[in-house]
Amino acid sequence: MINLDPKDLWKSVKGELEIVSNPAHFKAHIPGTAIKKIDEADHLIEISCTSEYQRNFIEERMYGYIKDIIRKIAGDEYRLMFTVEKTTDLKLKPDDFGPLFNTPQENINKAKSVGLNETYSFKRFIVGNHNRLANAVSTAIADNPGKIYNPFFLYSGVGLGKTHLVQAIGQEVLKKNPNAKVLYITGEQFLNEVVDAVRKGKPTSNLTRNELKNKYRNVDVLIVDDIHSIAGKEATQEEFFHTFNALYMDQKQIILTSDRPPHEIKTLEERLSSRFASGMIADIQPPDLETRMAILIERNEELKLGAPREVIEYIAEAIKTNIRELEAKLLQTVTTARSLGQTLNIETTKSIIGQIEKTQQSRITPNTIIREVCKYYGVTIKDLKGTRRMKTLVTPRQISMFFLRDISELGFQAIGELLGSRDHTTVMHGVNKIESSIKDNRSFQKEIDQVRNAILNAD
Ligand code: ADP
Ligand code: MG
Repeated sequence: MINLDPKDLWKSVKGELEIVSNPAHFKAHIPGTAIKKIDEADHLIEISCTSEYQRNFIEERMYGYIKDIIRKIAGDEYRLMFTVEKTTDLKLKPDDFGPLFNTPQENINKAKSVGLNETYSFKRFIVGNHNRLANAVSTAIADNPGKIYNPFFLYSGVGLGKTHLVQAIGQEVLKKNPNAKVLYITGEQFLNEVVDAVRKGKPTSNLTRNELKNKYRNVDVLIVDDIHSIAGKEATQEEFFHTFNALYMDQKQIILTSDRPPHEIKTLEERLSSRFASGMIADIQPPDLETRMAILIERNEELKLGAPREVIEYIAEAIKTNIRELEAKLLQTVTTARSLGQTLNIETTKSIIGQIEKTQQSRITPNTIIREVCKYYGVTIKDLKGTRRMKTLVTPRQISMFFLRDISELGFQAIGELLGSRDHTTVMHGVNKIESSIKDNRSFQKEIDQVRNAILNAD
């Protein structure tokens, strides 16, 4: 585990909060706060405030932001607990300071109410060869929603900017037309709402089926992020099919993202995949080295991290397939070096990153690997461990073997046992097969990178 220094961590958190917050709020609520304790065992961070008022404000309005920032820096999820150290009774109300964030209040309030996060703007989105088409389509849609590219289907591996880009579209549409109705939701949220609405009479049921219908069919721009989550879910797919058709016929803009193209989403109904593929499809590839550098240089300046050029180059070289991870590694490296009192150079960076990756990998259990591989290939764990030998099962089985060796560093025997009592020579053969396919086949190599990415980012 990386040793986080509470002072350094809080300093970085404050640095980032200062950028996104309204200055008045920041000045009023953040001074005097500190991290009192980091409980690694419990994954709990205790933050002390100077008054009840301050605590309530931060807890109610900044909790999510602080948690996100900490996750980025620490590379891990922590729960937050706020305590009051000394009570100074401030007679202020939140409204005394105006809006919480910097951008015009109208848009922010509006944006928040429809699920948008203002840090995901076009302005902060760096364009390179890997995302040029996706970006061009997105800006065109923001200028002219519903008119040209409908539906817009955007896909890529994890952490490559899908959410950022589709959120930017939503905000840009609102900026141009504050009266537009934009709704951003994840496939999973949609799924949950349908399940909830179907379960009639349940006390916690928030929306009835009719209300649900109205909610989704009365928008100008509907953004559903990670739409693949609805695959295999019958009632949800049915509901979405009707929503899609209604919006489409009204020339309302539909924007969907996924980790793969429509026809490769396993267990997605054909009538949906063919509709999803009927408009504009764009993908985002992993960024090239120059773009990775550009992204890190931006973040370095934005967060005033002060990392030297050689460190940025080293990290940009090392992390190739995930922008979230790229940014996180820079932050983690800077914070760790600070807390250890080390000078940041290539040597220290190398060792810090090595250590972070070791910790990351040691947290991934064999079961996580098996589960993520099954999820990626749309097969059940039972089938993966079973005896059937069709190609759709053999490949994921061998890929599991490969990752159990590569990430968990298990022996062939142990892997065989985990995967339904298979012989160690079978495992050896499987691992070899995958290793040589990776060497021979560029597109297979990319696929393996994506699966690895999914495993390393599994919750
Ligand atoms: P995805 O939805 O594809 O998993 P995200 O949109 O969540 O990926 O992106 C992961 C992180 O990387 C986010 O913090 C996002 O702001 C950042 N990011 C991705 N692409 C870019 C880019 N082109 N320019 C700047 N930041 C980016
Ligand atoms: Mg996303």
